[in-house]
Amino acid sequence: MSSRNLKIAVQRSGRLSEATIGLLKKCDIGFDNGHGKLRSRAFNFPLEILFLRDDDIPRYVEDGVADCGVVGENVLAEAESKLPVAEKLGFGQCRLAIAVPRGSGIARASDLDRKRIATSYPRLLSKFLGELGLNVDIHSISGSVEIAPGVGLSDAICDLVSSGSTLFSNGLEEIETIMESEAVLAVRPELPEGVDRLFESLCFRIKAVNEARKNKYILLNAPDNKLAEIERLIPGMKSPTVMPLAKDGWSSIHSVIAEESHWDVVEQLKAAGAEGILVISIDQMVR
Ligand code: ATP
Ligand code: ZN
Repeated sequence: MSSRNLKIAVQRSGRLSEATIGLLKKCDIGFDNGHGKLRSRAFNFPLEILFLRDDDIPRYVEDGVADCGVVGENVLAEAESKLPVAEKLGFGQCRLAIAVPRGSGIARASDLDRKRIATSYPRLLSKFLGELGLNVDIHSISGSVEIAPGVGLSDAICDLVSSGSTLFSNGLEEIETIMESEAVLAVRPELPEGVDRLFESLCFRIKAVNEARKNKYILLNAPDNKLAEIERLIPGMKSPTVMPLAKDGWSSIHSVIAEESHWDVVEQLKAAGAEGILVISIDQMVR
């Protein structure tokens, strides 16, 4: 047994909080995340959860106050953090982009020379502009960046965008992407003995949950003369399970299919003669 718990830093309240807590719960790690809590101890896994501002997470992990943390790649990059990324988590997708007021006449990065840009990402922005040899006045502000042009603070902004609807409703349009980002699990480069094994167990569970999300379990009935065609449509992990039904000449087939294309496959199965098709979510999947 390890001498102490694994400590993970997660965003206390914000865009990553719900998905991060959801991920730990899908790993069957139970804990109390009542509002305003700053730390919590899992009841069924040697894990302590620290609830922090996302910007503080790289530092807490670097300093060893936490062993690992869930944070956007954008935050790691802005902090110039060298922390290793153990897992990409598949949520919190966004991009750091430059946007300008619609109709401003600024169409590309090179048009920004001698202009003012407001951002909460001054390092990433100045690195990007510096590589293009542009001389730009960067205004570093901590929030509500999208209103800066409207109130006369800047000619352009550099901010995180996901759907683009916030930009649109503020009369802005994107002209350049600086980086793409998603949430990741960052970890201290050296974990104490025992804690490293706990971290491996956590990663094993996270991988199993993320793999499961990309797949569905499918069950169906089919006449035996259609089996070959149906098996080709749903080859599964090794091969589909085929079991005879009590009704003569019919079989039940079970398999795993990719979530992203499963509606197309279900239509093809139906057309191929399958009946009683059930599609079921998978909680965890280890290949
Ligand atoms: P905190 O109070 O923890 O400092 P914050 O306001 O800095 O929170 P959020 O807006 O909650 O941060 O965003 C957290 C992370 O979510 C971002 O760093 C980014 O990785 C991700 N994200 C995904 N989509 C977006 C988006 N459209 N805008 C901002 N962040 C996004
Ligand atoms: Zn923040």
